[in-house]
Amino acid sequence: MFTPTEFGKVSVLVPENGGTVPFGNTVVVHGSERTLVIDPSLSLDRDPVGADLVFISHGHEDHVAGLRHFQAPTYAHNLDAPSVASLDTMLTNYGLRPEERAEVEHSIAAQYGIPPTHDDVSGIADGHVFDLGDRTATVIHLPGHTPGHCGLLIEPDGFFYVADIDLTSFGPMYGDLGSSVDDFLASIDRAAGIDARWYGTFHQKGVVEGSDEFRRRLTAYRDKLLSREERLVQFLGEPRQLEDIVAHRLVYRPHVNAPYVDAVERRTAQLHLQRLVAAGAVVTLEGNVFRRA
Ligand SMILES: [Zn+2]
Repeated sequence: MFTPTEFGKVSVLVPENGGTVPFGNTVVVHGSERTLVIDPSLSLDRDPVGADLVFISHGHEDHVAGLRHFQAPTYAHNLDAPSVASLDTMLTNYGLRPEERAEVEHSIAAQYGIPPTHDDVSGIADGHVFDLGDRTATVIHLPGHTPGHCGLLIEPDGFFYVADIDLTSFGPMYGDLGSSVDDFLASIDRAAGIDARWYGTFHQKGVVEGSDEFRRRLTAYRDKLLSREERLVQFLGEPRQLEDIVAHRLVYRPHVNAPYVDAVERRTAQLHLQRLVAAGAVVTLEGNVFRRA
């Protein structure tokens, strides 16, 4: 169940819970020739608009949960099309240990109902333009969250869908094998440079109006990422191993308990350590121990 909200010829289908995981805001673009659906969420129990094509911003379960209801050709960035097409590939990209993977696989199957494979998924690249008649949707590659994470700029409405650059107070997520902090920061900068009237996110922050407000929120979102790095530098006043940092936690609060938490913390810590070592702010000691320089 969802409530549509209109922004020019763009409809955002807001789920009852406002778009918090496991749900999200599906976007529909009503072109004069073709109707495009972006990121069909778990809130859909059918194709509500007779889509001519579907675009998936990236290969994560919450963005493909409703795809099974669609018969239309499906597109995603070349780097994420394999994880949209195959649940097994998606799970592999999470970098889980075997026992964690079994648990995550079970919970995704139970919660999202994603089939093992999706047919008719094509990879496209940055700058690809979907011609919808009187509307176009241009692919803006915004990697970092995943390697193929993309936004779409809908014109002439001026609606920029930024997917999981989701502006939440939780902050950016980059816990997959293919995630990158540097790419995420560059994507935030790229998104900030795009003028639009509306900026649509997949989750609970919904649609932000105006580029000034969007940039203000992006700055706070970026600061959240950098504050994790500062906390890590503080923690490395004493020599620590990677697993100490995983247990200390940079992303999740201590009480959060889920089978994917350690994998996300591990990957996040590794990415920040790489940056800090490269910058000379952290040194690696014998026995895989890290310490502030
Ligand atoms: Zn995601």
